[in-house]
Amino acid sequence: MDDDDDRETFLQAEGLPALSMPAFQLHHFAITESFQRGTPGFVTDDYLEAIAAATTLTAVELETAGLWVRRDGGYFVNDADSIRMMLSFREGSDANAAKCLARGHHLPSEDEDDDDVDWIICQTCHVPLKRPDGKPVGGENGEPPDYGPRHDDLTTE
Ligand SMILES: [Zn+2]
Repeated sequence: MDDDDDRETFLQAEGLPALSMPAFQLHHFAITESFQRGTPGFVTDDYLEAIAAATTLTAVELETAGLWVRRDGGYFVNDADSIRMMLSFREGSDANAAKCLARGHHLPSEDEDDDDVDWIICQTCHVPLKRPDGKPVGGENGEPPDYGPRHDDLTTE
């Protein structure tokens, strides 16, 4: 996809109104983030101010689409399906993370093809452990990944 076309591309996911790419991404990132912050389904103004993207217009788009509803200090996410999906996904991933924590280490996936360096992920909790290009696993700028405190003590050994 051409980055320049972001504002012109509209997505229509099942059960959701048509959204621009930035709005679609913000909606789903913000839901994920709301769980990590312990406020499932509530997007705080602090979060919107903290992220670098130009979010004001995007938030207005989501509000206009009826997906976000203005509340004191942020937005209530009016998308029960996505919240429910995230909730059950997180319950499953919490259970898997607990298995790794109990075991004391991750289980790296096998790199089956020697010629083709691939992502190595934990077979249990699906956390990425190694990138194909050998760079540290993390954000787009190489910052350390934040998988939450439950993963801090785990290694691949
Ligand atoms: Zn793991």
